[in-house]
Formats: sequence, structure tokens, C-alpha cells
Amino acid sequence: MAEMAKHCGGCHCGRVRYEVETNLEPVISCNCSICQKRGALLTFVPAAQFTLLSGEDDLTDYRFNKKIVHHLFCGHCGVSSFARGTGPDGSAMIAVNVRCLDDVDPAALSPMAFDGKSL
Ligand SMILES: [Zn+2]
Repeated sequence: MAEMAKHCGGCHCGRVRYEVETNLEPVISCNCSICQKRGALLTFVPAAQFTLLSGEDDLTDYRFNKKIVHHLFCGHCGVSSFARGTGPDGSAMIAVNVRCLDDVDPAALSPMAFDGKSL
């Protein structure tokens, strides 16, 4: 297991900024209707490991299907840097778009294919 580390990330224009503690395991590449179009690489963390530093007021909430997940994106630059949802046990979870982390090289990761389309 890789070690837990703090990473900073956010949207393109810089209005949305956050800090997240994660070991980036696993990183998933999901084929559901929205992930496929966005090309996001995701990793999931408990909400307690995620701190939104700025941009709460700039976030636009997009929900579809069962409307459980808040697919948030910056209303200014349109980048979706994270989403808010709940885990199977009902606890608050954050899906971080690993491509939006400042210090992570997506090419160095080995994303796991996730069949979100079949859920
Ligand atoms: Zn932005």
C-alpha cells in the first residue's frame, strides 16, 4: 500500500481549491455515462480527508439518474474536480478527480477499469 499523503488540487481557473489526504489506491477509470464523457480518473476518500479551501459558491451541482451523487463543477471554467456522494454504508464520501491534483502525473498511475455503466 502506498502511503497516505496530502495533495492539493482544484479546477482550471483556480476558484475551486481543495486539499485531500489519500494514498491514491485505487484510482479508477469508470465507463458510466458521465465519467466516459469527462475522462476523469477518480479516487474515493471519506469526506473527513477532504477540505474545500475555496470555491463553494462557484460550484454548480449536476445530478442525474438516482441523484445520489453531486457531480460538482466550477461554474466559471467548467472543470469537474470532485464530486460528493455517500458510500454503501451511508457515510459521506468524496470522489476526487485525480487529473485535477497539482502534483500527480496521471501517466504514472495504473487506473483500474470500473464498470459503472452496469450499475
Ligand atoms: Zn474554475
